[in-house]
Amino acid sequence: MTRVGSLVDPDEDRRGIVEVVDFPRQALGPEDVRIRVAYAAICGSDPHSVEGFFRSDVPFGLGHEVSGVVIEIGDRVVKSGLKPGDRVACNFLKFCGTCRPCLDGRQQFCEFVQNEYRRPGMAEEIVWHESQVYRLPDTVSLLDGCLLEPTSIAVRIADKARLRVGDSVAICGGGPIGQLALQVLKLSGATSLTLIEPIAERRELALRHGAEHVVDPVSENQLDRAQEITGGRGFDLVVDASGARRALPGVLDLAAKGGTVIYAAQYPKDYELPLNLSAYLYFRELTLTGVYIAPYAFPRAVQLMPHLRLSELTEAVFDLEDAAEAFRVHMTGVHPKVVIRCNPIDDSAAAAGASPQTPRS
Ligand SMILES: [Zn+2]
Ligand SMILES: [Zn+2]
Repeated sequence: MTRVGSLVDPDEDRRGIVEVVDFPRQALGPEDVRIRVAYAAICGSDPHSVEGFFRSDVPFGLGHEVSGVVIEIGDRVVKSGLKPGDRVACNFLKFCGTCRPCLDGRQQFCEFVQNEYRRPGMAEEIVWHESQVYRLPDTVSLLDGCLLEPTSIAVRIADKARLRVGDSVAICGGGPIGQLALQVLKLSGATSLTLIEPIAERRELALRHGAEHVVDPVSENQLDRAQEITGGRGFDLVVDASGARRALPGVLDLAAKGGTVIYAAQYPKDYELPLNLSAYLYFRELTLTGVYIAPYAFPRAVQLMPHLRLSELTEAVFDLEDAAEAFRVHMTGVHPKVVIRCNPIDDSAAAAGASPQTPRS
């Protein structure tokens, strides 16, 4: 991207600009893997990056939800067993492995995240460290495989939910994280599974993928519906995957006494949630928690991908040259996910071998 600013700023002179620019080819270190990128999905966080949420020196590259094929490996790539030709998906972060949080099993708080490896995935090629690269199951296409990173977030949501089989679950927000969390929580034994989402297409998608109920928070009273669905108790687990200011205060009221609420979106830095401690934490003993990133969930996300229905989430595909248009379409919210095709790579073998759990058209 070449200018920091909101992608929907009505003032054209201040609007953020995404365009295709040339960056030099990266050198391959001894433990590095060079990947020809097949697909890079636009994440809800990418427009925040364009707004300068993480950095503001332009131009910088975007994209961290990536799949592709290994084309070259460094001399010391042995631990991962990766080889040229492998179909892979990636974690955009490289952790140091040595600081206290890393040693403590909490890499998400790594104090020395190796930013030199934070290389943009919306590119023809990327060079990442072998620890960031995961081989895809044969039955997962490269197109669906670019959803590995958001799938890892859905797995982490399930980890933090500590769901008991049969618990009732509501998800606010039917974007990619909400849709993936819905499928993962369904597999974890969620019942009365409800998606609360204003966009009709997203509600219908959720119903096709296992939601038992959907609620339109604009035309319906979501609290009344929650009471109706749960027999007046509220949901054992409520996940906010909307990040929407107007939705947030109402999330707590959907939870049952003793329930858990997970805030799983990226929130505006200045947003403060009013919280009545007596009502929610004393009398109702709610557990409130959040999800940032999910390093330890990647191996399980890889295992889970053949059991998820991903193809409807990856239908909107644009070529790299049309990246600016892809971002424009992403901002309309019509598609749960917009994907950029970075290279045309033949992947017919994977599609042919697709398991029955992942029907493809
Ligand atoms: Zn993402
Ligand atoms: Zn570390």
